[in-house]
Amino acid sequence: MFVLATPVSHLTRVGRVTAKQLEKIGIETVEDLIFYYPFRYDDLSRVLTIDKLFPGVEATVRGRVELIKNRRSPVKKKILTEAIVSDDTGSLKVVWFNQPFLTKNIRPGDVIYLAGKANFDYREIEFVNPVYEIVRRGAPLNTAAIVPVYHLTGRITQKQLRFLIKHSLDFIGEVPEWLPKDIIKRRDFISITEALRQIHFPASWAEVEEAESRLKFDELFLFQLLAQRIKHLLKKSRAIPIEFKKRQTVKFVNSLPFKLTNDQRLAAWEIIKDLEGDRPMNRLLEGDVGSGKTVVAAMAMLNVVLNKHQAALMAATDILARQHYKTICKLLADFNIKIGLVTRSEKKINYKLGARNPVGGKKNFDSRFVTHNSDIIIGTHALISAKGAVPADRHGPASGGQDKIEFKNLALTIIDEQHRFGVEQRKFLKANSGQSGITPHFLSMTATPIPRSLALALYGDLDLSIIKEMPKGRKKILTKIVDSKNRSGAYEFIREKVKEGRQVFVICPLINPSDKLGVKSVAEEYQKLRKDIFPEFKIEALHGKLPSAAKEKIMTEFSENKINVLVSTSVVEVGIDVPNATIMMIEGAERFGLAQLHQFRGRVGRGEHQSYCLLFSDNLVGQTKERLRALVSSNDGFALAEKDLALRGPGEVYGTQQSGIIDLKLAKLTDFLIIKQAKEEAEKIIADDPEFKKYAEIKARLRLAEEAVHLE
Ligand code: ADP
Ligand code: MG
Repeated sequence: MFVLATPVSHLTRVGRVTAKQLEKIGIETVEDLIFYYPFRYDDLSRVLTIDKLFPGVEATVRGRVELIKNRRSPVKKKILTEAIVSDDTGSLKVVWFNQPFLTKNIRPGDVIYLAGKANFDYREIEFVNPVYEIVRRGAPLNTAAIVPVYHLTGRITQKQLRFLIKHSLDFIGEVPEWLPKDIIKRRDFISITEALRQIHFPASWAEVEEAESRLKFDELFLFQLLAQRIKHLLKKSRAIPIEFKKRQTVKFVNSLPFKLTNDQRLAAWEIIKDLEGDRPMNRLLEGDVGSGKTVVAAMAMLNVVLNKHQAALMAATDILARQHYKTICKLLADFNIKIGLVTRSEKKINYKLGARNPVGGKKNFDSRFVTHNSDIIIGTHALISAKGAVPADRHGPASGGQDKIEFKNLALTIIDEQHRFGVEQRKFLKANSGQSGITPHFLSMTATPIPRSLALALYGDLDLSIIKEMPKGRKKILTKIVDSKNRSGAYEFIREKVKEGRQVFVICPLINPSDKLGVKSVAEEYQKLRKDIFPEFKIEALHGKLPSAAKEKIMTEFSENKINVLVSTSVVEVGIDVPNATIMMIEGAERFGLAQLHQFRGRVGRGEHQSYCLLFSDNLVGQTKERLRALVSSNDGFALAEKDLALRGPGEVYGTQQSGIIDLKLAKLTDFLIIKQAKEEAEKIIADDPEFKKYAEIKARLRLAEEAVHLE
């Protein structure tokens, strides 16, 4: 472990600048480096002698540099680097454009590999801008092989990263194995060390496959362990049976300004039935954006409170937690219920505690006060990560406070858009529910449309409720693709709508993956719209780096129609509810997955006015075009998910970024066979040794997964 934790700055050729650049792609340790998988490979493994080259062939050549020099091209004043390279069979002309430094790196007499596509130039064979690599000891990393290609940003180059990963693998020698020996044997896996070598530097495509199946198994096995450990825990546990309070529930349903859909009723009924039992409910509620999951959750929580117990609802972000808090306060206004909010920056209770109560007027309580004095507690991760706790260092001893969140008598927990399946739920299980021997019922809600068959394959016999039907009277959102020719027309359209009183969301794609909080992309779009396009409107920008108070202020003003246009990253993706916002404008739409675009679109079309979704995108070709067109023609999240699955493959659709459900780098939710294997193996282990007494490595690995939640 110690070796894996070595900071990258200890490696040769990594100075402060490079370390900073690596940090941008999330790499800080040797471990991060070797687990940074390539997203594709270039097959440069075909090595030919010069006489075997012909125009159009892609190949690698090994030869001696006879001559290399720079010259300025007469026409465009570009700098050309020209070289003659020869082997025993002939010689070859090479040209590079605009890389004058090459004459410093490559000297006459050097033996080099060149990889690229051979061209004919005046009946002479030549390479233009080939990849080069000077022949040294050891196998070539950038040519003459199946070469890994990584997602990069900043100034790190492919060659640099390949070198560092190779170096790290050599430096480590053996990566500690965490899979039990008998699983490796039974499933005929290669070791983790071999798998990592082969995923980066495969000798053949068969090796890529071999490495992938091992590493995918690791990911899915971890996932299964997390899920099944919970299942095991729940099997032995008892929950508080919640009696169905019919009269009050009817009163609640009648107080709603709308009629529940049949699917909402059915889902609520399934949940209420589960709650009546003395075994903890473990149910997933799936429903497209805008299908009305919140009311269903409210109904369940109401029943729990009427049974004199507490319910907790956890959301993914501060904004969403606050919004849920407001919505739930409003929905349950007639019931005299104490509702508390716990986020990192804010802890409050809706209830007037009375003049004589010393804390009555205070705005900010501590979390424990809220969790002890509210019937319903709504919050973010702050609900499950101990107050003020410093996240434990990944490899060091756990540090920080031990004071766990405590409830008085928690009987139901609900997580809206669970991020790490099995991890967050377990944190709730470990939290002090206030009654020993009692486990709260559990409901997880998601807008990710996972088809039932897939969900079952993954979660096994997890109970599932699906809301397929949208509330009646929703107008179809009109969706249009806007290319550069129509951009100004679209701006005019938006201007008109804003003049009519409507509001607009603008979503920006991240400019680079390292800018996780989207500061840069949002700032640029914001400036452009404010200065050049809509100077007359009130525009605000929302991104992950803003302090919560600022976010809250902007969201409140937006929901009160004091802001016309809200520019934001995908943070508004899940759950924001502002019925007067009728235009969803998405920049760089081609960069998002269908499912995600559909989520964005679900932010509008919630009120009485006709709503629009404008997909701004240029250079639309082939598959991208087909994807965006699918969005134009369909409003059904499940249908779109299937379409996306067919077009892009499951990795893209249910990849980490898209689903937010499970942390998979290589594996896909449709790797059915591996899911099945992982499930079987996890079941065996849990049945045999649920505390992992014999499996120290597995135990350590699970702990890492749990700590990662804190680090987010
Ligand atoms: P989601 O499932 O995406 O969380 P919400 O619970 O936020 O959806 O509901 C979206 C909007 O639809 C809210 O404004 C809610 O009040 C409204 N809504 C919920 N159920 C119905 C219904 N049966 N008829 C009409 N509107 C509804
Ligand atoms: Mg929601």
